[in-house]
Amino acid sequence: MNTQFPTKTSEIKEKFNKFINTNLIDYSSKRNFDLGPPHTNVSTLSPYIGRRLISEKDILNVAFQKFKPIKIEKFVQEIFWRSYWRGWLELHPIIWNEYEKKIRDEEPTEKTGIKCFDHWTQELIETGYLHNHARMWYASIWIFTLNKSWIAGALFFQKYLLDWCPAVNTLSWRWVAGLQTIGKNYIARADNIYKFTNCKYNPVNQLNETAPPLESQSSLNQQIIDKEFEKISLSDLDNIGLIINKNDFTLDSLLKKNIDFKTCLFKSDDPLINQSELIKNFDKNLYEEILNNNKQISYAENDEELIEWILKFKIKNLIIPYEPQGKCLLNKKNILNKFTNKNVNVFFYLREWDRLAFPFAKKGFFPFKKKIPELLTKQGLMK
Ligand SMILES: Cc1cc2nc3c(=O)[nH]c(=O)nc-3n(C[C@H](O)[C@H](O)[C@H](O)COP(=O)(O)OP(=O)(O)OC[C@H]3O[C@@H](n4cnc5c(N)ncnc54)[C@H](O)[C@@H]3O)c2cc1C
Repeated sequence: MNTQFPTKTSEIKEKFNKFINTNLIDYSSKRNFDLGPPHTNVSTLSPYIGRRLISEKDILNVAFQKFKPIKIEKFVQEIFWRSYWRGWLELHPIIWNEYEKKIRDEEPTEKTGIKCFDHWTQELIETGYLHNHARMWYASIWIFTLNKSWIAGALFFQKYLLDWCPAVNTLSWRWVAGLQTIGKNYIARADNIYKFTNCKYNPVNQLNETAPPLESQSSLNQQIIDKEFEKISLSDLDNIGLIINKNDFTLDSLLKKNIDFKTCLFKSDDPLINQSELIKNFDKNLYEEILNNNKQISYAENDEELIEWILKFKIKNLIIPYEPQGKCLLNKKNILNKFTNKNVNVFFYLREWDRLAFPFAKKGFFPFKKKIPELLTKQGLMK
C-alpha cells in the first residue's frame, strides 16, 4: 500500500487536515525544498485535486478559516496555477493535438550516473510523485543534459505520475524546454539542486547549464480558439442521471444540493493512455472506496453497462463531468450516438471554478494572477 497516498476517505481527510493545520503556515518559505518522501513541506494533495476528490474551492475554504488569504498567498497562487494551465490548454487545443501526434514510447532504462536524476527516476516509479522542484530539475536535465525529447519526457511522467494532468504536465514540460514562454528555458543548476535538496545532491560539472531553449514553432502558441464556457441550467431537467468518473469523483456531492438524480460511477480508462500499475491500483482502490461509502451509487465498466443503467432508471438527461483536452472518456461520437439513440440528452458539466477561471487564461500567468481576487470573490471565498 502507498502510505503517502491513501485511498480511504478518513485517511485522505486526515492528510488534508494535517497539512492545513501543521504545514501550510510555513508553505511559502519551505515549499521549494525537496526533502524527499513524505514531502510534508508541500501538500501532496495533487492526486486528489486532479480527480476532484478534494476541490480547489473546498481546500481554500478550509484554509481561509484558519488563515487570511494574504498570509497564504503563495499557496493560493499555486492552486490557481493548475486552473491557469488547464484553461490555457482548453483555449489552445492545437498544443495537445500536436503533442499527441508526436508521442512515442521511450523510458530511461539505464542509470545515468547523475545521482539525483537516478534517484528521482526511482522515486517517481515507486511512489507516483515528485516534488515540483524535482520535476523542474528532472525535465531540464532530461532535455538539456541528456538531450532526450521533451515529448518522451512528458510521456514518461504521464505513465508514472499519480497526479498526471494533460494540461499541467504538457505545458510544464514545454515551459522548461523554452517553448511555452518563447525563448526562455529553465536550466537546472548544480548549486540550486544542492541548496534545495538540503545538501543531499551536488551534481557539479555533470549538467549542461548553458543550453539554449529549444527551437520553437512560436505560431502554435498564438492559435487560440474562441470558446464560450457556458453555464448549464439543470433545475428544469427531469429524470436526471449523473456520471462520476476520474475526471470528477465528487460532482454528485456538489450538485445534490440543487437537483435530484441517480448516480453511476463509471470506471473509465482511456485505452490510449498507458499508466503504471501503481496508478491503476490507486484508482481501483478509490472506486471501491466510493462504492463502499455510497451504496446507492450504481457502477458501470463500459458503455453497454451505462446504457443498461440509463434504461433501468429511465434517464432522460445525462450529466457527465466536463472533459478537458487530453481527458476524453465519453465525449466520443460512437458513445454519444448510443445515448442519443435512446433519446437521452447529454450535458458536459464544467464546475463554476473552471468556468470562471478558464476565460482569463488566454495569455500569461501574470495577467491571470491579477484576476485571482475577483475569482475568489465570485466563489464566495473572499469579500
Ligand atoms: C515538468 C513538470 C510536470 C508537471 N506535471 C504535473 C502533472 O501532471 N499534474 C499536476 O497536477 N502537476 C504537475 N506539475 C506541477 C507541480 O509540480 C505539481 O502540481 C505539484 O508538485 C503537486 O504537488 P503538491 O500537491 O504537493 O503541490 P503543492 O505545492 O502543495 O500545491 C498545491 C496544489 O497547487 C497546484 N500546483 C502546485 N504547483 C503547481 C504548478 N507548478 N503548476 C500547476 N499547479 C500547481 C497543484 O494542484 C497542487 O496540488 C508539473 C510540474 C513540472 C515542472
